[in-house]
Amino acid sequence: MDRVDFRSDTVTWPTEAMRQAMASAKVGDDVYGEDPTVNALEERAAAMLGMEAGLFVASGSMGNLAAILAHAGRGEEAIAGYRSHAVTNEAGALAALGGVVPRLVPTDEFGRMRMDDLVAAINDDDPHRARTRLILLENTFGDRNGFPLPESYFAGVAQVAGENGLAVHLDGARFFNATVALDVEPSVIAQHVDSVSFCLSKGLCAPVGSVLCGSREFIYRARRARKVLGGGMRQAGILAAAGLVALDEMIPRLRDDHANARRLAEGLSRLPGISIVGPEVKTNIVFFRLSDDLPFTMQYVAGRLREEANVWIDAYGTNEFRAVTHYWVGPEDVDLLIDVLHRILAEENVALRAT
Ligand SMILES: *Cc1c(COP(=O)(O)O)cnc(C)c1O
Repeated sequence: MDRVDFRSDTVTWPTEAMRQAMASAKVGDDVYGEDPTVNALEERAAAMLGMEAGLFVASGSMGNLAAILAHAGRGEEAIAGYRSHAVTNEAGALAALGGVVPRLVPTDEFGRMRMDDLVAAINDDDPHRARTRLILLENTFGDRNGFPLPESYFAGVAQVAGENGLAVHLDGARFFNATVALDVEPSVIAQHVDSVSFCLSKGLCAPVGSVLCGSREFIYRARRARKVLGGGMRQAGILAAAGLVALDEMIPRLRDDHANARRLAEGLSRLPGISIVGPEVKTNIVFFRLSDDLPFTMQYVAGRLREEANVWIDAYGTNEFRAVTHYWVGPEDVDLLIDVLHRILAEENVALRAT
């Protein structure tokens, strides 16, 4: 990658080891259950999470949607934290295709719902109300600097869910960023939820795919949902082969991405006119903001970063930037972003003083 791309960890290319594994993958028809590489990936993923079964899906969005369709029916409610991806960033899929009603609950600075709010959002058995069926969680919580939520939160939610007969699905697009940052085994978090989906194609660098895990009975239903969504792939072992390399080789090194994100946050926080938004950076996402006093727009800054240094970074919402670290950006790239930003800010400060 000669471009330095901080826009997302979805931009990651597969590694050389992945390309080789893909080229030599044993394949079969996965809708018949006959692709040995897909089967191996599904079994490996489930075993890592301490769950019974796995399902290879085309994307994180498909994993979440297949899970929601398997857990909840039309006119039933799913509770989720404000700005959680499954509700706000997946094109309304749960409502559009599942008829599932999202019920958003406020979250704290780390992305956690308060237990009181969660309990209050559960509908009682009143015919006026949609039946509450599902709680959607997210870890890491993308919108809060990818904060890794600790086991205690999942234990607390599980207790509420158990008392109310609700299922819990964890959108773990960056699940392994969370477990690495928390320094816990994946099963420590997964034991508290009914299903987990995680992305192979973000920090783990595989080109395509996510794995959804849960009980055998749940995965049976999710497999049908995947077919309904057009997600029954055939010789998908070509893709799953890269996923196996991702699980074998790419998890421990997520620490490097986290160290680079911290380096970025520290460097940015030293620049006048820039402030880090959200909680302490513990994984691979940094949100930051330009001071309102500065005489230029975020689009202008992003444009200059691209033109002058081939550094790509996107505005997120109306007044924040989001930078995401991954395998293809190193500490020197982080320093480049900081240096060029510093230069732009310094110039503009001079220009401002002159007027
Ligand atoms: C990226 C992401 C997804 C969806 O993954 P896609 O593969 O892009 O569909 C879901 N949830 C979260 C939190 C994500 O960051």
